[in-house]
Amino acid sequence: MELSEVHMKLEKRYGAHNYEPIPVVLERGEGVWVWDVEGRKYLDMLSSYSALNHGHRHPKILNAMRLQMEKLTLTSRAFYNDVLGRFEKKLAEIAGYDKVLPMNTGAEAVETALKIARKWGYYEKGIPRYEGNIIVAEGNFHGRTITIVSFSSEEQYKDGFGPFTPGFKMVPYGDVEAMEKAVNDRTIGILVEPIQGEGGVRIPPDGYLKELRKLADEKGILLMFDEIQTGLGRTGKLFAWMWEEAKPDILILGKALGGGVYPVSAVLADDHIMKVMTPGDHGSTFGGNPLAAAVGIASIDVLLEEDLPERARKLGDYFLNELKKIDSPYVKEYRGKGLLIGVEIKDEYGGARKFCEKLATMGILSKETHDTVIRFAPPLIIRKEEIDWALERIEKVLKEPL
Ligand SMILES: *Cc1c(COP(=O)(O)O)cnc(C)c1O
Repeated sequence: MELSEVHMKLEKRYGAHNYEPIPVVLERGEGVWVWDVEGRKYLDMLSSYSALNHGHRHPKILNAMRLQMEKLTLTSRAFYNDVLGRFEKKLAEIAGYDKVLPMNTGAEAVETALKIARKWGYYEKGIPRYEGNIIVAEGNFHGRTITIVSFSSEEQYKDGFGPFTPGFKMVPYGDVEAMEKAVNDRTIGILVEPIQGEGGVRIPPDGYLKELRKLADEKGILLMFDEIQTGLGRTGKLFAWMWEEAKPDILILGKALGGGVYPVSAVLADDHIMKVMTPGDHGSTFGGNPLAAAVGIASIDVLLEEDLPERARKLGDYFLNELKKIDSPYVKEYRGKGLLIGVEIKDEYGGARKFCEKLATMGILSKETHDTVIRFAPPLIIRKEEIDWALERIEKVLKEPL
């Protein structure tokens, strides 16, 4: 039996079966490459759903983490530490907000944003207590907590997990008119992803984000963007809202903020909104710990020093253009922005999974999303030669008989 087999069996025997991984067992990673326990090499084109924008084990991020580990790792927020403030300043300045509220995972940051928005709705906007609603989009993915799955349109994400949290309304994604119709005098705000990553790399029509910004201003409600996947360079800008100058009132970040080594998430807003959070309102034992803050600082530094957003834009354009030249009988559409790219397989071919499995045997790691879409989202440090290496293999898989 291969060593891979042993590890897979072990996980299957002792781990809850809430995932169905592509059958490779990884042991080592460096940059855009990973190796499995048999020593086979793969190009990582999933990047842990964009958490690895900096690549695996970026030396600068590892070094910052190592140095911090030697000094202080955890204090809880019962005390100050000498790293958090520097992280908050850096993040607030690059993103252009007054305040940062640090958390750990993406779902926690989304929950935090919802709490801030609701409290703002009652304390600042004067909506009668607990009658407020927040409007979300069909096909959304914001995480897995009970409140968040309460407003998912994905049946499986909810099935068996009720009763659900009330206070959300759903409208079709990309449809400003539907959004406008859904707004009423109890509406606190809007929460959407600038591009729906898990929803199948769904890109809204041009102008959508800007129109939402306008709508929120007109109605005096909060615009919230979940940029956990699209933020920090992925789409070819530092944040995806920058494509349309549609700066949200509340910005939610996660994934790549942790530099691929540690969970770091955050919610950003200006003082007139963030002021509703007062001591005792909210918290997290690990949120904002010195190790997380050191990693966060390094991940922002690397992002800027290596100009990863611009790399994503240039290489993403190149990658998508080359993909579009592949004349495959299976492909319905190639789409993307920056290095967030989706290849939608025609319905009649039974999903994207088998293409991802084939790609894995050829040394390319990707994952199907929303059943019919292959997502390519390599680390933003990828080089053109590596994209060419991938294109050769992708072309083969998309052309050969099933
Ligand atoms: C991954 C993701 C989340 C959830 O983040 P976790 O760290 O897995 O909790 C939320 N929103 C978006 C858009 C995501 O891509």
